[in-house]
Amino acid sequence: MNVKGKVILSMLVVSTVVVVFWEYINSPEGSLLWIYHRKNPEVGDNSSQKRWWFQTWFNNRTPGYQDEEEENIGKEGWKEDNSEELSLGEWFNPKKRPEVVTVTPWKAPVVWEGTYNRAILEKYYARQKITVGLTVFAVGRYIEHYLEEFITSANRYFMVGHKVIFYIMVDDISRMPLIELYPLRSFKVFEVKAEKRWQDISMMRMKTIGEHIASHIQHEVDFLFCMDVDQIFQDNFGVETLGQSVAQLQAWWYKADPDEFTYERRQESAAYIPFGQGDFYYHAAIFGGTPTQVLNLTQECFKGILQDKKNGIEAEWHDESHLNKYFLLNKPTKILSPEYCWDYHIGLPLDIKNVKIAWQTKEYNLVRNNV
Ligand code: UDP
Ligand code: MN
Repeated sequence: MNVKGKVILSMLVVSTVVVVFWEYINSPEGSLLWIYHRKNPEVGDNSSQKRWWFQTWFNNRTPGYQDEEEENIGKEGWKEDNSEELSLGEWFNPKKRPEVVTVTPWKAPVVWEGTYNRAILEKYYARQKITVGLTVFAVGRYIEHYLEEFITSANRYFMVGHKVIFYIMVDDISRMPLIELYPLRSFKVFEVKAEKRWQDISMMRMKTIGEHIASHIQHEVDFLFCMDVDQIFQDNFGVETLGQSVAQLQAWWYKADPDEFTYERRQESAAYIPFGQGDFYYHAAIFGGTPTQVLNLTQECFKGILQDKKNGIEAEWHDESHLNKYFLLNKPTKILSPEYCWDYHIGLPLDIKNVKIAWQTKEYNLVRNNV
């Protein structure tokens, strides 16, 4: 090698050492040897987002969608990025639905039909080999009235192509409908105590779900949804709904002003939300997230429920009031549009492009003990 070659080579060596050292002292853990695979690409937790140092070096940008780097937008309007991690901008485009709220003030995505690219997400989650759990309760006449249709439709439309575990809580296992599940789907049935009042049946779900997450669900799934049984899946409820902490917009209230919401307004209740506060009215019929997040949610809501019992008060909309208080204090990282839980009694406004789950008609006189 001539002198010129040696100079160039040593310059290369020196600059490599400088780059490596610089990255080393700037990496959050001061180590080059860590790697951590996040399973949910979404906004709001980029503090925990860790990559190989060189990947960060070459791909150093935050997953924001407001100041999108326009040059990265592909023909279809989706950002293109070949890195292993998926950023929000790669699968979510809020501009596709300008007529509705698609981003919250705290920058969480509100997932509407058209805003997400499921194919990109599918590719990502297929690599992660995720398992998704779904809890559902059917106590008393809710077993015969709703359970079979709920499970049959969930079997068909919930997280198609991914491993699913249904956690079915009933008060009488002998009345469980026989349902044959597709491959990748399994279920576990548990017997729960039937509370006397429907309000307590509904609220006690928070306690039971929390106990099951702590004792086994957290070891069995990557994400968990918890749903009411009085609804039917009508179309794919897919990986675009996965996130750390996921809330559902209540169909009747998605356009209303927060001061109109039926939050608990009495100060004596743990679920109290004063006028002038509140972001959205969330529906307790669907919530989800990672097991840790859902565990925290159910524990906090149940604490509120117990505190109210001690003080001789019951929140107006029971567990839903406590859920709304929880999400006011702990903002969800993803929100599902009312298309994910629609009530056809409202009609079908243009906003609602594709209904994934539909409410069953309320027949309280037929299914509830104390009406
Ligand atoms: N539930 C039940 N048996 C009851 C009352 C409630 O199994 O007697 C469960 C069931 O999963 C139901 C959920 O609690 O979907 C919430 O109750 P409901 O759907 O009646 O409340 P709503 O959606 O009308 O507010
Ligand atoms: Mn319901």
